[in-house]
Amino acid sequence: MNHYLIGKVIIRGQIEVKTGMRIGGATTGLKIGGLDLNVITDPEGKPYIPGSSLKGKLRSLIEKKEAAKKPDFWNVKDNKDQISGHKCRTDQEYLNCPVCRIWGIAVSDKDVEIKSPTPTRLLVRDTYLDENSITQEMKDNLELEYTEVKFETAINRLTGTALHGSLRQIERVPAGARFKDAELIYNVFDEKDKEFLKHIFVALELLEHDYLGGMGSRGYGRVAFNNIEIFWNKRENYETGQIALTSERAINKDVGTTPAEIVQKFDLIKNKLAD
Ligand SMILES: [Zn+2]
Repeated sequence: MNHYLIGKVIIRGQIEVKTGMRIGGATTGLKIGGLDLNVITDPEGKPYIPGSSLKGKLRSLIEKKEAAKKPDFWNVKDNKDQISGHKCRTDQEYLNCPVCRIWGIAVSDKDVEIKSPTPTRLLVRDTYLDENSITQEMKDNLELEYTEVKFETAINRLTGTALHGSLRQIERVPAGARFKDAELIYNVFDEKDKEFLKHIFVALELLEHDYLGGMGSRGYGRVAFNNIEIFWNKRENYETGQIALTSERAINKDVGTTPAEIVQKFDLIKNKLAD
């Protein structure tokens, strides 16, 4: 398998918060503003979405989807002999596995018979709040400058009653907030990577019907991706400086701007990833 840069697919878009979202901040034991659980914020105190959170969530969604097709998919055990994840063991598996191809694997283990280079192909940037999305009307109803505070109680599942002393104050980003200039970069190292790009958009679709951040079982963290623009920068584009991410260069102009629209007509996108 070749292993050199053919080009980069750059995916940009907007993340819209549909139900209050909580991506946890550092748990220093310090209660900021008296909150029990605070959201992660940038140095200016505004909530943001760490690239690592989004990247990890997308991986776990694709893992679960792939696991449904392969009975022996979960093959990594932790030191207590509990199943803890997935890792391809052979070149044959690796070349056809979206999880290991896109997210990469460390092949230091003696038991792995992989000869191919196995770099991470996906990079996800941190995504910052679009302050304009927090309207004055929203601000009037928020407890904090950009976020709301909810009280949540832990429920005893057997009795259905609140656990004693379990009332917690939870900070979350309000519904209606938008995060702008989300950016995912997908490196194309061989021809088959062009086909595997589809999994990124499938993962975004799955995420729209799952949740980002914590407390999804309580309805938190529903998000939508929109205004997606996809760019194809070949290696040669970098050599000539023709890499600007301007709308007229987007390759999805006639295809659609949401994950589902892009998945439906993915062949049209793939055909534009020409050498
Ligand atoms: Zn794999």
